[in-house]
Amino acid sequence: MAERSNRRPIWELIVGRAYVDGDPDRCAAWGRRTFGEDRHVAAVVRPGSAKEVASVMAAASEFGIPVHPVSRGANWGMGSRAPFEDGAVVLDLSRLDGISDYDADLGIVRIEPGVTFAALAGFLAGHDSEYFISEIGGSPDASVMANSLDRGDGVMADRWATLSDLEVVLADGRRVTTGFSALGADRLKGVMAGAVGPIADGLFSQSNLGIVVGARVRLARMPDDLAIVSARIDGIETLKRTLVAWRRMQGRGAIPDRSVTLWNGVKYLARDNVRSAYEEEEIRRAETDVWYLSAYLVAESPEILQLRANGVLRGLLETGARADGAIVRVGGVWQEGCEGLIGKPSPRNLRTVYWSSETIPGFAEMDPDRDRCGLLWLCLAFPFDENLLAAFAERAQVILRPFGIDLNIGVEAESFRCLLSYFSLSYGREGPESDAMAEEAYRALLAEAERHGLAPYRLANGLPKSTSSGMTDLDAYLSEIRRIGDPAGILSRGRSGIA
Ligand SMILES: Cc1cc2nc3c(=O)[nH]c(=O)nc-3n(C[C@H](O)[C@H](O)[C@H](O)COP(=O)(O)OP(=O)(O)OC[C@H]3O[C@@H](n4cnc5c(N)ncnc54)[C@H](O)[C@@H]3O)c2cc1C
Repeated sequence: MAERSNRRPIWELIVGRAYVDGDPDRCAAWGRRTFGEDRHVAAVVRPGSAKEVASVMAAASEFGIPVHPVSRGANWGMGSRAPFEDGAVVLDLSRLDGISDYDADLGIVRIEPGVTFAALAGFLAGHDSEYFISEIGGSPDASVMANSLDRGDGVMADRWATLSDLEVVLADGRRVTTGFSALGADRLKGVMAGAVGPIADGLFSQSNLGIVVGARVRLARMPDDLAIVSARIDGIETLKRTLVAWRRMQGRGAIPDRSVTLWNGVKYLARDNVRSAYEEEEIRRAETDVWYLSAYLVAESPEILQLRANGVLRGLLETGARADGAIVRVGGVWQEGCEGLIGKPSPRNLRTVYWSSETIPGFAEMDPDRDRCGLLWLCLAFPFDENLLAAFAERAQVILRPFGIDLNIGVEAESFRCLLSYFSLSYGREGPESDAMAEEAYRALLAEAERHGLAPYRLANGLPKSTSSGMTDLDAYLSEIRRIGDPAGILSRGRSGIA
């Protein structure tokens, strides 16, 4: 470890003394997570340009120092800001926060990794843009780039599908560009991902094959006319009927992809208060007997929107759900009280991170790593099959109970074929035993998923993607590719199973 710390002068030469932090307390804070043991961080290095990132990586490769990139580090439940290996250097990319090359007509913008959802939303508001950045349920201070690379989800947006023209620094310090930018086709930068040849962008998503220092984002167009429909669903049989109606309406185009959010009752309760504020019976009921759905609907005119909203409302009411709806934007103008319903990042769902804590702090004071919140996520994909989802939810409740973990699940539909779920495993953190128990619960749920032919679509750093310890053919191939750009094996070793 001492030898690694002694590399500090090299980082200082590259990024400047003010941007290298080796303070033990602050480094310890960077190594904290909401599950598992803390990691030892040797230093936090803050480059100010892509060139400096490349120089840091070339030096780290030469000396064999493990590096873990962090764009903003709002990754609670998914590994936080902590590196994979003790003694690693954290590369804090927050100073790379440029927003440039905004095309107001085509809705394309170039961003760097330090650009937050709040910053990009503010930029677009400042330009009176017709476009918006689809927000996440997580922190407004999370990075648009990191979330997109992680294939995150947001209101009516497949974030990964909106990213292209990646500017990448490889672990050995080399730089590559993808998409039309790679061909020097300046007029085509960002218009779509597919320049001639393989779409190489995917290599840098959920991977450890490079650090992305710039990219183009295709922004979502703010709908002129927007409606919201919400429903409360009581009982698992009503849930199944609702899922059937939802799939049918999404398949026909009445409901756009990724516009519906379904939460079980626990997720809803957790946004209001900590678990100790509720009766045990209410929590049990909220696990699988109470569900909440909300959907955004769009149309090319207010008249069509009204018809569509009425149809969707009828479809939901017929299932036995209690549903309601409202037109929230007409002709590009928000209805009173509905301003910024989409496109305005909000921290309100962060309250759910404190479900197993004693109190929920104000947003400005929140630091789930410091506050020792116990949280890990399991993100499972499902076919759009009402019976499978309902049966799995009931089974998950039974599996989690012995671990003292409440079923907390959210679901959205990538398309009428595929549901994306996220299970938040929240637990009281009373020492290493509780961490071990939570990871056992994760593995038990993962094993159950595998028995049903399911798998994760997104992974918390440090947790396995499968219960099998073997390498797939693809893992082996990706590891070979990794060795080309990362011969010293220094970049986030093991991320997504890429050794
Ligand atoms: C209550 C709650 C609700 C949430 N709701 C949502 C939601 O609705 N939708 C959603 O998608 N997520 C959601 N999340 C997850 C979380 O907010 C995101 O994963 C968040 O974007 C991660 O933080 P970050 O952007 O700062 O990424 P970081 O912590 O900076 O990075 C995340 C990962 O990407 C890697 N990485 C970062 N930058 C780069 C780079 N430039 N090049 C290569 N690799 C990089 C890091 O090494 C790390 O593994 C939620 C989380 C919470 C706690």
